Amino acid sequence: MASKRDKCSASSPSSNDDGGEKAVRLLLHTVDGAIPYLTPHLLETCFPIEQVKDFLWIGIAVRDACISPVMATPKKDTDETKNKKKNKPSGYAFSPTTEPDAWLLPYTRVTVPTFDPCQDSIRHSHKNIVDVTASNDHVMVWTEFGRQTLTREAYDTAAAEGLQSHASVTLFDACTEDAKAKRKRASLERTNAWREETIKSHASDGTLWASCLVAAAKEDQDPGVTQQFESIQNALDNKSVNGVAFVNWQTISDASQRVSVLQQCIQRIKNAPTTTTLAVLSTNSLEQVMECFQQGINIIGTNLPIQWAKQKKAFVCDVGNWKNRKDPKRPKLEPSSVDADGCFPVDSSETWIRDANPILAGCSCLTCQQHCRAYLYHLVQTKELLAEILLFIHNLHHMIGLFRACSQSRISGSEEELCRHIQDQIANNNNNNELQGLTKH
Ligand SMILES: [Zn+2]
Repeated sequence: MASKRDKCSASSPSSNDDGGEKAVRLLLHTVDGAIPYLTPHLLETCFPIEQVKDFLWIGIAVRDACISPVMATPKKDTDETKNKKKNKPSGYAFSPTTEPDAWLLPYTRVTVPTFDPCQDSIRHSHKNIVDVTASNDHVMVWTEFGRQTLTREAYDTAAAEGLQSHASVTLFDACTEDAKAKRKRASLERTNAWREETIKSHASDGTLWASCLVAAAKEDQDPGVTQQFESIQNALDNKSVNGVAFVNWQTISDASQRVSVLQQCIQRIKNAPTTTTLAVLSTNSLEQVMECFQQGINIIGTNLPIQWAKQKKAFVCDVGNWKNRKDPKRPKLEPSSVDADGCFPVDSSETWIRDANPILAGCSCLTCQQHCRAYLYHLVQTKELLAEILLFIHNLHHMIGLFRACSQSRISGSEEELCRHIQDQIANNNNNNELQGLTKH
């Protein structure tokens, strides 16, 4: 029988055919363990594995992929009313044996407990507040079915056996930046303890990524923080883990702080082998994606292509003409044509009503090949789900194009040029917004 895990492409970042350690990959967050909007046929047509494997990896959160109903067993089968109740679940719990969606099997899959515990809590707790708690044995995770207990053992089994992931991030207890010192200390201690326990019980097959709490790393004199980096460094030295996943980085609101904290974290594991995968699990804006790229991150997690489709936005930032920035013959970018995420909001692009052009000239995605802006505009105005499907296909395709450009620029040592090219387009827009804001008031 073939091995459950196909490790060839995932756990060897230095293999020849995938851009090696210079490759920059998009870790797309799945929704309920699946890629949203696409049927298996569309996934295969639009994102065939052989074309995207070097740039697109799939992130699966145990939080939403492995939650299953627990069926009640009535005490007496003879009781008719109880028999009726028999088919109703008595609750929900994590099922470590849940298998991944069959169509995701060809793609490289990374398992995490959750991508952003604070966002989960805000979305599901109905109180609009961050409610993230844990004990020494488990984390409380917000799911579609309320708050559930996730133990380290259940998580590790789900990641390694059920979901058969190519890589998994060790369980973490992330707290908010403004948490009290005692809570922060506890979250570091637990995360450290769980990492050690997972390493002990896990075969050293190079499929583990050590979770690293980023927000806590700011207090660099704290003994818990020092212990975190020592423990990660040890695990890397012993080859018990082959990657480090930075958790909760996206929650730092100030851009310069985000960059300096990420630099500090990378600095503290600078003795790691060069093949070590550096991942940021979640990013909320194009600006954050580019910051990660600029700091040398290899795997950048996000659900932006999904978010943009939901918001009826098309990602159109130019990702191709960065090589000859000073060439006067270079096609000029339309000023202020994109928002701060490099997107067009389709519903307010009235000029699209009679526009027979594709969303983005030269784009080879299915949407741009077969449909024009006028049709997209019409679908958005009539609130058709197809609008989101077509926008998602374009957004993910173009995002993969950005990651391809990132990888190429890293190989040719021209990261700065690409970053400036993207930042110029976003900055243009930010300035224009500010100016418009000023004239309005
Ligand atoms: Zn397109």
